[in-house]
Amino acid sequence: MALLYLHMEQHKVVIITAPSGAGKTTIVKHLLQQYSDVLSFSISAATRSARHTEQHGVDYYFMTEQTFTQKINNNEFVEWEMVYEGKYYGTLKAELERIWAMGKTPVLDIDVKGAIHVQQQYKNSSLSIFIQPPSVDALTQRLQSRGTETEASLKARVDKASYELTFKNHFDTIIVNDILENAFAKAATVVLDFVKLKA
Ligand code: 5GP
Repeated sequence: MALLYLHMEQHKVVIITAPSGAGKTTIVKHLLQQYSDVLSFSISAATRSARHTEQHGVDYYFMTEQTFTQKINNNEFVEWEMVYEGKYYGTLKAELERIWAMGKTPVLDIDVKGAIHVQQQYKNSSLSIFIQPPSVDALTQRLQSRGTETEASLKARVDKASYELTFKNHFDTIIVNDILENAFAKAATVVLDFVKLKA
């Protein structure tokens, strides 16, 4: 067990976090498309239902709360959070192992609390990036234009985002997402520098 832990510690992890609606998923997708030879998306487990275009095993491992709870009890998660009321999300240890076994670095698109937990576990082998929206107004507009929120869920996400912004200094790098091209470029530079670093 101790040997396995040491072995896991040497692997790298890229954590990308942000308040919801800050545009982090766009940046994550871009990085993964451009650098698919070295990076791979860490598919999270989630108990919410799939949105229209989402697929099980691609966007998330969608599962019931009962299955999710079983996995918590079996200690199968690196971290998990109830990100929204009654909705659980988590990073499975097996998912990171799957990606490391391909010789790639997992990219985790996770919420701020989850990101801090992963960071604590992979202190010397993680890069954490906080994507900061230019303003709370810009964030509200971005969420509204996505068209997936009700009035109540929009308010919940904006309130949560304002709170999450207060944690930005916990992370290795902050990228302000005002001009998307600039944010892409900065993200690519820090991630590639980190991935190329010798462990
Ligand atoms: P959505 O429901 O919009 O797909 O995601 C909601 C939030 O959950 C996003 O901020 C996303 O980054 C976060 N999230 C996705 N997967 C995980 C995970 O495995 N762990 C944690 N802590 N948050 C996650």
